[in-house]
Amino acid sequence: MTPALTSAQQTELKNLLLARRQELVRQIDQNQTQLDPPEVNAGSVSQDENLRLSIQTREIGGTLTAIEREEITRIGRALESMLRGDYGICKTCGEPIAFARLKAEPMTEHCVACKSDWEKKHPAK
Ligand SMILES: [Zn+2]
Repeated sequence: MTPALTSAQQTELKNLLLARRQELVRQIDQNQTQLDPPEVNAGSVSQDENLRLSIQTREIGGTLTAIEREEITRIGRALESMLRGDYGICKTCGEPIAFARLKAEPMTEHCVACKSDWEKKHPAK
């Protein structure tokens, strides 16, 4: 089997993944800071209103964090497969994934053909 990527290309993708993961961890930290209960501003906003706003913020923050955590998991899987030596190989058809595609989406586990096939079978909503 011909290796899909040169080691220089793999290093470049690994750096992209590590930078992305660092960015996500920073965002999650920020989200969690924003989730702290807001100061009760007596007078301008009623207790009920304050509670409602607080719950809304939590829901939005919670969703973002879930998406970010999912992305971190995918980055972790990509880094693991680099260690195993099967990074950049399509999980469905076993063909190498194009470097340009990996560069745009380094966590991808599927080639363009299989991905669009999958999307046809699982249309978004
Ligand atoms: Zn494929």
